[in-house]
Amino acid sequence: MSWLDNYVRPRIQQLVRRAPSPQDLWRQCDDCAQMIFHRDLEQAMMVCPNCGNHMRIGAEQRFKLLLDDGSREDMIMPEVALDPLKFRDQKRYTDRLKDAHNKNGAGDALKAASGTIEGAPAVVAVLDFSFMGGSMGAAVGAGFLAAVQKAVENKAGFVAVTASGGARMQEGILSLMQMPRTVAALGLLKDAGLPYITVLTDPTTGGVSASFAMLGDVAIAEPAAAIGFAGQRVIKETIGQTLPDGFQRAEYLLDHGMLDIVSPRDELKATVGRVLNLLLQTEVEDEPVQELVIAPLPVEAVIAAEEQGEAPPPTDTEVTSLEDGVFVEAKYSEVDPEAAKKADEDPR
Ligand SMILES: [Zn+2]
Repeated sequence: MSWLDNYVRPRIQQLVRRAPSPQDLWRQCDDCAQMIFHRDLEQAMMVCPNCGNHMRIGAEQRFKLLLDDGSREDMIMPEVALDPLKFRDQKRYTDRLKDAHNKNGAGDALKAASGTIEGAPAVVAVLDFSFMGGSMGAAVGAGFLAAVQKAVENKAGFVAVTASGGARMQEGILSLMQMPRTVAALGLLKDAGLPYITVLTDPTTGGVSASFAMLGDVAIAEPAAAIGFAGQRVIKETIGQTLPDGFQRAEYLLDHGMLDIVSPRDELKATVGRVLNLLLQTEVEDEPVQELVIAPLPVEAVIAAEEQGEAPPPTDTEVTSLEDGVFVEAKYSEVDPEAAKKADEDPR
């Protein structure tokens, strides 16, 4: 591109950019048509105070919403070949990318950052719907893989926040190949025994819902988020039937077993943090744990195992049991030979 595009045009745009008018300070809710003052709306995390409509928010706001203050470390997304197919519809694909970049400021639709959520180490990857409808092309696939690798490196939980129209059609089959790529990336997390949490927001559709969005160990969604593969109209015309009320909405999917939790935005951080802390077992300081006891393996355990026809518990095992509401942790070094002999002679 020439210096006219890169330098002169942005300068001119900057000069003629209009100052915010009073209309910009108010926003109308798409759902209930209420006018809301921008500061009130920001304070309510872009949730309509009148009807509870969860408006779409960008990656920047998502990071602020989820990550603990001061813990955020943005990841640099890997570079990929732009427009390998030299695709052009009404516009060149490279021009579309440039427009999206100018509007959104991001390199592509996926952004990732590491940090902590309620103290639990996490890597958060966010699809930004305002960047070409959050569509998934090679850049999103590569970014997703890098974010997963970062989570494995940090021994952190991985959180994917989705908002997407699906595959990036301008990248043809290359965009479809990102579906197995992201799924394979999640295999790395699984191998490392790290949790994967999805936060599905409005809308999560197409190739993203058909790949990594639906694979969370725990699937959380925002209220009334539209989640599905094909659109309602397509399904209706294909099966020739009227669709039920609330079809493809988060609450409907929760009722039908597709989701685990529907969490309002103001509770989202606490919900994700609680799940992460549980799965990463980082919250142990609250439990009253007695001192570690090294004791011989109790004979009763060996007898009980023999009666059940099972092998006795291995020696040197840590056993945690709940006695009188108190966690007792014990470590057994070996079977006490004297006690075992006695038990053999007189089992009861
Ligand atoms: Zn509203």
